[in-house]
Amino acid sequence: MVRVLFGDESRGDYLLTEAFLTVDGASFHVDWEQSCEGVRAAVARAEHDVYLVSASIGGGRGMALVRELAPITKGIVLLVLAKADTELEVAAVRDGAADVLVYSEMTPNAAVRTLRKALARHRAARVHAQIASPEPLPDIASPALLYGRIEGALARSRLGRAGVAVVTVRLEREHSPPSSWPPAMLLAAVERVRSCVREVDTVGLLVGDLVIVVEDQDNGSQAARIADRVLDAMGQPIAVRGSTVAVTTSVGVAAYPEDGETVADLLHGSGLAAGSARDAGGNTFRFRSSPLNQQAVRRLLLQRALDGAIARGEFSLQYQPQVDLRSGLLLGVEALLRWNHPDLGAVSPVEFVPVLEASDRINDVGEWVLRAACEQGQRWLSRGVPVRIGVNVSARQFRKRGLTELVRQTLEDCALPPVWIGLELTETLLLESSDEIREAIASLRRLGVKISLDDFGMGYASLTYIKRFPMDALKIDREFVRGLPLDIENAAITSAIVALAQSLGLQVVAEGVENEAEEEFLRSLGCTAVQGFLHAKPMTATDLDIWRHVPERR
Ligand code: C2E
Ligand code: MG
Ligand code: MG
Repeated sequence: MVRVLFGDESRGDYLLTEAFLTVDGASFHVDWEQSCEGVRAAVARAEHDVYLVSASIGGGRGMALVRELAPITKGIVLLVLAKADTELEVAAVRDGAADVLVYSEMTPNAAVRTLRKALARHRAARVHAQIASPEPLPDIASPALLYGRIEGALARSRLGRAGVAVVTVRLEREHSPPSSWPPAMLLAAVERVRSCVREVDTVGLLVGDLVIVVEDQDNGSQAARIADRVLDAMGQPIAVRGSTVAVTTSVGVAAYPEDGETVADLLHGSGLAAGSARDAGGNTFRFRSSPLNQQAVRRLLLQRALDGAIARGEFSLQYQPQVDLRSGLLLGVEALLRWNHPDLGAVSPVEFVPVLEASDRINDVGEWVLRAACEQGQRWLSRGVPVRIGVNVSARQFRKRGLTELVRQTLEDCALPPVWIGLELTETLLLESSDEIREAIASLRRLGVKISLDDFGMGYASLTYIKRFPMDALKIDREFVRGLPLDIENAAITSAIVALAQSLGLQVVAEGVENEAEEEFLRSLGCTAVQGFLHAKPMTATDLDIWRHVPERR
């Protein structure tokens, strides 16, 4: 038997609460005190396991009473009954209440479950305290812990370290909140949400919403990724007792400092944003502030639109010539991915490739690119006009096991000798400096595939990395080519890159060459090849055939 003390003036509310808590033989006994004095006296007698104090007791002095009682009732569960009001809920939890029961959301189920949960958490916390564990229930943070985590994250953020965002995940099953779900279903939902966050992110439960604290994020992009993953994960129905149940998920994000400076601001803001997501029909997310929202919404839009883009045939490749600076002949081409969506039109890879890279989708699209390039390579080869095609490979594809095998198999399927394919890797990959990556590069080169390092100079890879990861060519990013030779800084950087690459026996391809002056300077440095609008923009395979027919070209 759990003994509950209910503190409120209204007899009606007492009777209702008692009825709710004793329905179905739930083992609660409810006593009633009408005044603050009465509650104080009952607390002094210490006869109860739970204090349920209404915010309106004593003419609205309930919260003050909670603050007063919290230190004395340590070891006993203190709950607040209040009208729906996020700020008040946050304040109640901060002031030591275990949770808040909202009048308008009170159903027998909700009341019983909230009390049970609070008690269970409480007991677990006691056990944890006994074995000196620093955190009660490590998988799901209590409201108090959640509050503390946001506070801590804000403090770190104010010291100039990473940003903070609070993500509220509001789940509903046919308009009923998680508090009325079967526990197994809630647990399954919590597990899914947990699987979408990183180890460092905190997940807690606050008045029926799951709340995620995201540190170390930049302009809300980390939070948007998590919001997106949560929506993805919750998109699948949940299996409960043999049947499956669909859940509507509304996610709201508030970030510091854009959306507020305090814990309450962020919780309140992300709750409101989740409300807007819900108003928009659910299964979507909203940022509290509009500029962040626009970016995030665009990302989500692209993410959705990219689903099935391969099957709908929306991708194509264009080819941009690379010209040998000594002979003036075509050295090869780079395959550049193009996406044409029926509503969005042509979207730049600068925008959609990072969206693909944020998920495993880049693997499928990367495979498609490789195959399309190999097929085109074979077409050119069989017509007696072979060209080496450089294919961009993102770090995620590279990290996935079996890339060498995939390349080998694709080449074999297309009957294309490996010399006609090259791979362009990005610098960030090398920073991981793992043995697996070194081995993957080495095995691709053993296969006969040339490896170049794309956008060299943009990241942090120094030439020491290149020594550690033997490869064939460097591509100087177009950022450093711009304005040569008048741009003194760029002139110094490109000279250094070319000289060092030569000493390592690497080819150097300069990207984004747009005028004669740039090309002349690069030639004087000893750069091997150039790629840029000066010679040609990326074009379709058919246009490339026409371009190549101009006699002086090849
Ligand atoms: P990237 O690999 O460095 O490709 C070179 C980019 O520079 C291309 O942009 C190309 O159109 C552009 N460019 C070439 N010459 C000039 C020039 O003279 N002036 C200017 N202003 N730009 C020039 P694009 O096609 O928009 O591709 C952007 C990036 O998207 C690529 O940069 C690459 O990182 C990524 N990407 C493209 N296709 C793929 C792909 O199939 N897989 C992966 N993982 N990434 C891809
Ligand atoms: Mg490239
Ligand atoms: Mg590049």
